[in-house]
Amino acid sequence: MKKVIPLVIFFILFGVGKASAKELTQDEIFEKRMDLYKKTEATTQVPWYYLAAIDQFERSIRDVRKDLPDPPAITGYYIPPEIWSGALNSTLEDINPMTIELFGGIGVDGNGDGKADRTNNEDLLFLLAQYLSKYGMDDQSFRLALWDYYQRDQSVRSIMGNAKVYRTFKRIDLSEKAFPIPKGYNYSYKNTWGDRRGWGGRRIHEGTDIFANYGTPVRAVAYGVVELKGWNKYGGWRIGIRDLNNTYHYYAHLNGFAKGLKIGDVVEPGMIIGSVGSSGYGPPGTAGKFPPHLHFGMYKDNGLNEWSFDPYPHLRLWERSQKK
Ligand SMILES: [Zn+2]
Repeated sequence: MKKVIPLVIFFILFGVGKASAKELTQDEIFEKRMDLYKKTEATTQVPWYYLAAIDQFERSIRDVRKDLPDPPAITGYYIPPEIWSGALNSTLEDINPMTIELFGGIGVDGNGDGKADRTNNEDLLFLLAQYLSKYGMDDQSFRLALWDYYQRDQSVRSIMGNAKVYRTFKRIDLSEKAFPIPKGYNYSYKNTWGDRRGWGGRRIHEGTDIFANYGTPVRAVAYGVVELKGWNKYGGWRIGIRDLNNTYHYYAHLNGFAKGLKIGDVVEPGMIIGSVGSSGYGPPGTAGKFPPHLHFGMYKDNGLNEWSFDPYPHLRLWERSQKK
């Protein structure tokens, strides 16, 4: 009996500790976010997918920006404390709506609890919805609101894309991924990140080459929007797709595109977007200057600028889950 009691106490303490610091699962997080968007839509009439699109964009840039704090689990939308509370407010994290207003802050009480709390999801989203509703509830007004807010083409485009994807699928749990080449086709690739390449001057290789036969289907790897499609003298026939994390996927040297696919189209992981070819390294239509392969590149945008990163580890991951 003596041995049992400390064990019981240990479990009680451990159990309580665990419950209070309980990490939400990804599904629970998506559910809570969606509840918040829908609740804000109900009180403000601003469509939930506009709120979700901005919230997701801000989350994605906070994930890679060092000058912004990491996003909390539910809301990604960020307002600096001095903007919320007012620049002259000596209380940086003020929650009193009256003093906030007095000092020229923008913080609001969105849920009617008498506090304008920057760390409260409902207050934050209400402020965002309030801003958007001044413009209107359609895509045109939304675009204008985004332009006034971000003053940057790519940010506006990324958020408009998010909104389109959310509106199309009517949900936000869209983190599924796919390997660009479907099961049952032969292909090979190795890590060629940063290799020198021969044509077009001294450029380093920004991507992974997946060698496969002509005509092998090429698929979208994520939920996203076609942002670019056409010819480029280096990449040949190529497509660029931006996903919900503001990551741009670049597919080059294609043989051709999926029929009917156009800029602005929404894609989902596994959707065929074209086929493997050897196009590029010359004027439109040039092909056969190298063996057929898919050049796959990934680029990250942080709301200020864009850079390429090594897609190889991601390809390995997607390939592994495809084999399962
Ligand atoms: Zn390549």
